[in-house]
Amino acid sequence: MHELAIAQEILERAQAASEKSGGGRVVRIGLRIGEISGVEPDALAFGIEALSQDTPMAGVALEVERPGRRQRCAMCSNEFVPEGLAVACPACGNPQSECIAGKELDVTFIEIEDPPCA
Ligand SMILES: [Zn+2]
Repeated sequence: MHELAIAQEILERAQAASEKSGGGRVVRIGLRIGEISGVEPDALAFGIEALSQDTPMAGVALEVERPGRRQRCAMCSNEFVPEGLAVACPACGNPQSECIAGKELDVTFIEIEDPPCA
């Protein structure tokens, strides 16, 4: 359960952000999970829900972006979306390209409600 460890880390970051803001409740967490990051968004959402139960973060909303895979050609710098596993450049046919997107796993934002007695 790879996602559970990631969920734990995300909740810890949200908790730290909440403490920094003076204890405001975390209402929303933005996540960017690339298509080939190896992380299943549903499993991650489930992990966050399970781990935040009975904590102040229970019921936190998640906003997940799911960027697709993109490659950049090593020869002509053309950027393209590969089809399946074929990563040859459609512009020049060069078979070598590097992955520039789709592997992301980032927390994009943590939205915190104002503390009750600010
Ligand atoms: Zn090329």
